[in-house]
Amino acid sequence: MVSRIGKKVGEMGFNVGGGAINWFPGHMAAATRAIRDRLKLADLVIEVRDARIPFSSANEDLQSVLSSKRRVIALNKKDLANPNIMNKWIQHFSSCKQDCLSINAHSKSSVNKLLAIVELKLKEVMSREPTLLVMVVGVPNVGKSALINSIHQIASTRFPVQEKIKRATVGPLPGVTQDIAGFKIAHQPSIYVLDTPGVLVPSIPDIETGLKLALTGAVKDSVVGEERLAQYFLAILNSRSTPLHWKHLYNRRKEESQYDFRGKNEDLLGNPFSRKRRLVNESEVLYIEDLVTEVQKALYVTFSEFEGDLKDESELEILIEKQFVALQKAFKIPHKVGAEARTMVSKKLLTLFRMGKLGPFTLDNVPNASNSKP
Ligand code: GDP
Repeated sequence: MVSRIGKKVGEMGFNVGGGAINWFPGHMAAATRAIRDRLKLADLVIEVRDARIPFSSANEDLQSVLSSKRRVIALNKKDLANPNIMNKWIQHFSSCKQDCLSINAHSKSSVNKLLAIVELKLKEVMSREPTLLVMVVGVPNVGKSALINSIHQIASTRFPVQEKIKRATVGPLPGVTQDIAGFKIAHQPSIYVLDTPGVLVPSIPDIETGLKLALTGAVKDSVVGEERLAQYFLAILNSRSTPLHWKHLYNRRKEESQYDFRGKNEDLLGNPFSRKRRLVNESEVLYIEDLVTEVQKALYVTFSEFEGDLKDESELEILIEKQFVALQKAFKIPHKVGAEARTMVSKKLLTLFRMGKLGPFTLDNVPNASNSKP
């Protein structure tokens, strides 16, 4: 557990890229005001959070507004989160009387389950409102668009001819009505999910929360710097002794590959989010599994050979340095690349983490019963 270290992992300065971080430009406060107004339209909110950080991916400023509304918390990207810890989180929300469900926004069955809860909760108000509106909100990159997209597809099968929302809505100025659009998901009462999500500004009370948000993609990598993020990720891995899980790989005889994968490293992990990236074919799948094994082996070997005290920040830093060197080899990044190599190692490591290739992780600890806010 992270708490094995005296200082919290996120509080560590690390030598490179340490120091103060300017998380958000000032104008983001206006976004919170705008969302507060738009929320008035919604009869129910689906608050999407990242299942890896169920607490850190909330917006603190709007929690009182959100919790006063009918709300379902959707812990998205459940495929990337540790299932045991996620279940504890779900128990925690249920103990706070908060509806919560873990989902994968790309999976129809997952989204159907979420919609079933939404419909059930809205049936209570059926007699009052002929048209009910559902709004999806959440911090950036948490999967709101993916969810709305899946809802759109489900809505089009349920109601192939989609009707327009029939409900007068108040605009920001007196006498001005607002144009809203959504997908009809149920009839009697008519339930529409608004097609535009509400983007919440993440709350960052301390640096560790910011690092978690950056690691999971809610804050841009450039704000923290890839290297610092990769160091933070390695610190988490080491403090949880995760590399020991990969011991079995160390002795495994490396099978000769029938493909020549040299040179694909850059293609596959150079810019994983590029829309131009070509489809992963069978040989690339084999290649990436091979690469993951090399990375896990490198982390296992450096971890198990290290004799320092990992509770000591400076010793942990030494291990992380060794791991950067080992990872450069594992990623086959040539020495001649020089200073760029560290950034390349960092980017590739972060990509593997974000693809879930290094295993499922949950970064937020479940609060104790005494601290029971959803
Ligand atoms: P938004 O900024 O909240 O609208 O987030 P997006 O819907 O654009 O999703 C951000 C990224 O997360 C995209 O690359 C999605 O494909 C990915 N994503 C969304 N939902 C899931 C999920 O349940 N699991 C995984 N593994 N990725 C997801």
